[in-house]
Amino acid sequence: MRAMVLNSPKTPLRETELPMPKVAAGQVLVKVSACAVCRTDLHIVGGELPNPKLPLVPGHEIVGHITALGQGVTRFKVGERVGIPWLGWTCGECRYCHSQRENLCDDAKFTGYTFDGGYAEYTVADARFCFNIPDSYSDAEAAPLLCAGLIGYRSLMKAGDARRLGIYGFGAAAHIVAQVARHQGREVFAFTRPGDAAAQEFAKSLGAAWAGDSTSPPPEPLDAAIIFAPAGELVPQALQAVAKGGRVVCGGIHMSDIPSFPYKILWEERNVCSVANLTRHDGEEFLALAPLVPVRTEIEKFPLAEANEVLRRLREGMLRGAAVLVMG
Ligand SMILES: [Zn+2]
Ligand SMILES: [Zn+2]
Repeated sequence: MRAMVLNSPKTPLRETELPMPKVAAGQVLVKVSACAVCRTDLHIVGGELPNPKLPLVPGHEIVGHITALGQGVTRFKVGERVGIPWLGWTCGECRYCHSQRENLCDDAKFTGYTFDGGYAEYTVADARFCFNIPDSYSDAEAAPLLCAGLIGYRSLMKAGDARRLGIYGFGAAAHIVAQVARHQGREVFAFTRPGDAAAQEFAKSLGAAWAGDSTSPPPEPLDAAIIFAPAGELVPQALQAVAKGGRVVCGGIHMSDIPSFPYKILWEERNVCSVANLTRHDGEEFLALAPLVPVRTEIEKFPLAEANEVLRRLREGMLRGAAVLVMG
């Protein structure tokens, strides 16, 4: 099968002919039809995330059809469509797994990072971590729901009942979260790279009440802000944009260092937190909610062989919505 393979961090992916993956007990073999490209893929390829499996097939927003079942799998049938997310396996035994926090499992394994992922024609996944995909989405439209959507949704839940919600970095996750937030009756304030008029227009087209540069203050104080951009300097900026008791949620897996800031911008019970990974419960809840909103994903499709070009465009902020690799 064809795959785009990372042989060592900080080098381009190489198009490679690999043997078909073998389906083990408890797994499904999936013929991939679409795999969305996530900012985390950039951080894996760029070497910011330590110790990836090598060589590695990246990609953790996978939609495809099951072509074989491993021993003991009864949840799915051959031919069924499934989604494969970032969380690939958890131990089920640690204190996090035992307290509904499997996203923090001490021994978790991740698709497209410590397991091979979806930049390939076929992949295998533990059936217990796969999701059913709502019928109203095509394969390519559904792919960004599996990380941009899921992690975005977990970030939104961390923002609590904030009515005035700021979103920093208006990419794949933000464009989904904005729609869910509007559906929940929140007001969305979108912050983009300074001068990025196209992203600001995009945010407004998705119902943002206001869109502006990340360096400018919002027109009114926010109740919470979610930061999807991997830029640590946004943390003090967002703290200054939230009202007393406001929360700043960092939604990415990697961020540049946060500059020091005066205590007075944290004072008055403002707080900062991060979001790590997802639980299967998040996935089930979000994938049930998405068609009701209904969340519409704005996607740009690319052939598998163009994965390097897509990563470059993502790094340079040249994508609108989510990029999706489509197979063949
Ligand atoms: Zn565990
Ligand atoms: Zn992701």
